[in-house]
Amino acid sequence: MTTLNDYSPEVRAEVKQVREVVSNLHEQLIKWNLVVWTAGNVSQRLHSADLMVIKPSGVRYEYLTPASMVVCDLDGNLVDGQEAPSSDTASHAYIYRHCPDVYGVVHTHSTYATAWAATGQNIPCGLTMMGDEFGGPVPVGPFRLIGSEAIGEGVVETLKKYPKSPAVLMQNHGPFTIGKDAESAVKAAAMTEEVAHTMWAARQLGDIIEIPQEDIDKLNDRYQNVYGQH
Ligand SMILES: [Zn+2]
Repeated sequence: MTTLNDYSPEVRAEVKQVREVVSNLHEQLIKWNLVVWTAGNVSQRLHSADLMVIKPSGVRYEYLTPASMVVCDLDGNLVDGQEAPSSDTASHAYIYRHCPDVYGVVHTHSTYATAWAATGQNIPCGLTMMGDEFGGPVPVGPFRLIGSEAIGEGVVETLKKYPKSPAVLMQNHGPFTIGKDAESAVKAAAMTEEVAHTMWAARQLGDIIEIPQEDIDKLNDRYQNVYGQH
């Protein structure tokens, strides 16, 4: 078995740093009320090697520490860790192998996003912030069983049809989000739950007015390329 000692000091230093980042970001899932008990997971891919750092399987959030984070290769094989990696590891690995710009993946069962997933519906794009963040509706992905890379395959397949969305609602399961690092993927998970909640409320009040794609594209372009500090 390959161990961390087979990697360069540079890689081992990045592993140490990413373990801290990933461990701390799990607290954000609790803070934003996106997970209960041991559900959900965050991972980040390394830049210095084809490795990723992910949450251990079945460990409660209050017991997570940088040292308890698990290091796997991009086929999901264990490289370093005291615990078994998350049961979604093979799916995270699949996403990293197929999406070269993605360095962070997050999965939750956040309530409103998962309600849309349970009913197999895209969240329609009825808010300017959805144009900004998702470039259209938040898409629903196919039903897939847990435990293999099948979920990752379903996420990647769905993102091909919705290339601007950082989130996929896996049918009957919940959201998987991506980003340029784990923090961006956590942000996408929080934003997904926010718009899922608001659009659920909107639907109770009446018909949702969907924003025309032409305007969504303008919103998305401004937000992604002009807005904020550059
Ligand atoms: Zn799940």
